[in-house]
Amino acid sequence: MTGSKKRIVIALGGNALQDSNGPATAEAQLEVAKKTCEYIAEIVNRNYEIVIVHGNGPQVGRILAASEAAKDITPVMPFDVVGAMSQGYIGYHIQQALGMALAKQGRSIPVSTIVTQVVVDRDDPAFQNPTKPIGSFYTEEEAKTLMKEKGYVMKEDAGRGWRRVVASPIPQRIVEIDTVKQLCGSCIVIAAGGGGVPVIELPDGSLEGVAAVIDKDFAAELLAEQLEADMLLILTAVDRVALNYKQPNQKDLDALTVEEAEKYIAEGHFAPGSMLPKVQAAIKFVKANPGKKAIIASLSKAVEALEGESGTVIT
Ligand code: ADP
Ligand code: MG
Repeated sequence: MTGSKKRIVIALGGNALQDSNGPATAEAQLEVAKKTCEYIAEIVNRNYEIVIVHGNGPQVGRILAASEAAKDITPVMPFDVVGAMSQGYIGYHIQQALGMALAKQGRSIPVSTIVTQVVVDRDDPAFQNPTKPIGSFYTEEEAKTLMKEKGYVMKEDAGRGWRRVVASPIPQRIVEIDTVKQLCGSCIVIAAGGGGVPVIELPDGSLEGVAAVIDKDFAAELLAEQLEADMLLILTAVDRVALNYKQPNQKDLDALTVEEAEKYIAEGHFAPGSMLPKVQAAIKFVKANPGKKAIIASLSKAVEALEGESGTVIT
């Protein structure tokens, strides 16, 4: 911790960069980012020191699809490279949008993106059973060729065709953590975008990119731990974590203890791949930092959540 400001790691969900009803263009992304950064600037205004982690699922999907469609003109980009590309252009949009939102408040704080590598364990059990679909749909014949020639794992996706699947391993170490630590406090850092570019550590100590997707909520949690952040703030599209989500007896929760959260996980209240990793990340942060809290809230009510008027706080 530096100075008296509280440090928060903010995880931004997909809704922070794309409107589900809007076009999937870069221009539209920048417009959504501008709105998002108005909310983030409000947080900065409340005197918090922030670090931003964002998702990249739709963006890597699009870069990969474009690269695959252009395969006869230029070689297809490896998936780790696609992840790094997405960190670059999403970071660029947030830098521009947040810079502008802060300037409107008369603040001049530098905003910088760190292309971030995150080490995963090559023996992570997730690699035995890849589940995250990425990129375009293929015919069975094309899929079999890709499996043979490129070593991709491909699976039939709910009758829609064949798709490449990759693993979602647990983040172990943030390679650029010292850079983030040094910059924290003197600028707003955007790091571990999309969960970070997944790399494995070879016996000689060198790093090698792998085709995998790291959950951005888990990466944000690891970053929050390593930065000794005071709080993990996970911003998404819903105001609160709910029990019996989307059922007539849905119950939104203001607060959860770790014990309650674990019980509700066991009862299956949180969907894998969406709310479950957020609750798990919140639990992990609070367990590692007794006395600190994690909040899951909606982007548009982030400030209210910090003031205890919205969101679900996990303690
Ligand atoms: P993000 O892009 O922010 O990571 P996700 O779609 O991955 O968003 O996860 C958040 C979504 O999880 C919510 O918008 C909601 O639709 C869904 N969800 C699933 N289970 C729950 C639950 N129990 N309570 C609240 N939201 C839930
Ligand atoms: Mg998600």
